[in-house]
Amino acid sequence: MTLPYLKKVGEGIFVDSEVRKANELLQPWDEEQVVTYGLIGLPLSKTSISHSGAHLSPTTIRKMFSSYSTYSIEEEADINKRVVDFGDIQMHVTSDEQSRIRIYETVKALLHHHQQMVPILLGGDHGVSFPSIQAFQEERGKVGIVQFDAHHDLRNTKDGGRSNGTPFRSLLEEGIINGNQLVQIGLRDFSNSASYHQYAKEQGIHLYTMKDVKTKGILPILEQSIAILKQSCDVLYISVDMDVLDMAFAPGCPAIGPGGMDSTTLLEAIYYLGREEMVKGVDIVEIDPTVDFRDMTSKMAVHVILQFLLGRNNRLA
Ligand code: CA
Repeated sequence: MTLPYLKKVGEGIFVDSEVRKANELLQPWDEEQVVTYGLIGLPLSKTSISHSGAHLSPTTIRKMFSSYSTYSIEEEADINKRVVDFGDIQMHVTSDEQSRIRIYETVKALLHHHQQMVPILLGGDHGVSFPSIQAFQEERGKVGIVQFDAHHDLRNTKDGGRSNGTPFRSLLEEGIINGNQLVQIGLRDFSNSASYHQYAKEQGIHLYTMKDVKTKGILPILEQSIAILKQSCDVLYISVDMDVLDMAFAPGCPAIGPGGMDSTTLLEAIYYLGREEMVKGVDIVEIDPTVDFRDMTSKMAVHVILQFLLGRNNRLA
């Protein structure tokens, strides 16, 4: 039967044979193929300190791919990467600890099985980064982390257990990383406390506030950060907490606030890091689609992924 005008589910609102849509970059996992880039959803938001529907964001981010093309007008090139979509890791219904174990075990197994794979992990809240980075380091070598975030995420665990405010504290306290392996970029006023700032300095974490981003520029900061991390680390990992962005650019974050990064600066940073051969993993966290406006924040996540892949197109030798 020939039905040329029937639009199939998932084909988008307008079909044009000359436009390659970004959702075509995603391929379902067939358990056979060699995976270079793997998308894995980590829909955990029960560990959020404030109310969060971030467990819904992997699904929303996937949907938003169809809003964009694969073509970079700046590079005059299409993204030539394929991303295998593994789907989501199913979270435990009630136990945060069990959910973290599931993330750790699944991410570790997938990285182990796919030795060449660069994972693109979609949270969830920032609590997912603790088990993910632990698994990543065990499979890929000593990790240097570039964290984009308004917050340190170094809260103690004695007052409330592990949450989206503690992932980097947990990595430090468990001896998985030391402070020298962590760069935090985009920290801002009235979003952190004096004691945690002090703790960050004592741990030797490399800190760049929003004022640093404004005065030094994002690319010199990244150049410096990579040079520092390369001295002691085997691989690099990017953790993008979307609340590093000003609330004007990321209304879907639970912890929105003014004085943050603009979206162009973050995308420029991600492209720069995508070109860096040592970067072998990315996570994107803290998007709550239920409070977002026109899916702005999930669309930003898609652009983070696209700029990262575009950077891979033009990787430095
Ligand atoms: Ca965070």
